[in-house]
Amino acid sequence: MACDLTRDKAFFAFSAEVEPVLRAKQGEEIHLTTHDCFSGQLKTSADTLETLDWSITNPATGPVYIEGTKPGDLLRIDLREVTATGPSVMVAVPNVGALGHLITEEETVIVEHVGDTVVFKDTVVVKQNPMLGVIGVAPAEGEIPNSTPGTHGGNMDCTLITSGSSLYLTVGVEGALFGCGDMHAVMGDGEVVVCGAETPGEVRLTPQVVDIPGMPTPFIENDEIVAVVASAETVDDAYKLTLDMMHGFLTKVAGIPNNDAAMLMSLVGNLKFCQVVDPLLTVRFEFPKSVLADYGYVLPR
Ligand code: CA
Ligand code: ZN
Repeated sequence: MACDLTRDKAFFAFSAEVEPVLRAKQGEEIHLTTHDCFSGQLKTSADTLETLDWSITNPATGPVYIEGTKPGDLLRIDLREVTATGPSVMVAVPNVGALGHLITEEETVIVEHVGDTVVFKDTVVVKQNPMLGVIGVAPAEGEIPNSTPGTHGGNMDCTLITSGSSLYLTVGVEGALFGCGDMHAVMGDGEVVVCGAETPGEVRLTPQVVDIPGMPTPFIENDEIVAVVASAETVDDAYKLTLDMMHGFLTKVAGIPNNDAAMLMSLVGNLKFCQVVDPLLTVRFEFPKSVLADYGYVLPR
């Protein structure tokens, strides 16, 4: 399938002011390519952050104007396929990330892709789970740098945002002005050293406005679970937001009684870190779809 949008069409802040580079219809598949978070600047282990042009880090491909979308709409992005084209790059940098106090020497590592794995220093083979670190829509007001997560999406670095999952976002401006990038071939929850396996990639996705009154966003769905995502200055603030969001979804959208929802969140729900290294920290709360079905609720398709 022909590519609709290539990685050279990139932007660096989600904003109503950025001119769209593609118009897309709801329900139609878009095929795009993405840069890694360094815009491909780290090509060998000799390339370090010292020579990096920071103004072109965290590029997102887009923005895409999605026809028929207006502020307040609930937009579902179905990720048909997220493919890491590789190779990946990782960095360890003194005083950067959550482990920066333990790093004394800067290092850049090129991580080769072999089949559906990545190979770390010819020693460790890790199965890929290609995911989009940055994905979002323009906020209703102002601009948000791609480095920063928020209610509009952005740099959530959530390992659930991968092939076969759907991301729900609230549209902030006419046309949504969607974009994505910062693919990781694989990443652990927390992204503690400040990166995953940062890779260029290809994405096939379909945007669609849906009507689910009361739906909290950002919201993620895959075959097994639903999840809410929240970002704040501390993980304490972020996790509390996810609890309110999930309890609101379970009671107001799925119709589960108040105390049942609370007890089930404690029984079968999982609170997890997405990342602890970006300008705001991101937490998610996961809940099994099978329990929604036990209460007779199925997300509309
Ligand atoms: Ca990221
Ligand atoms: Zn990244």
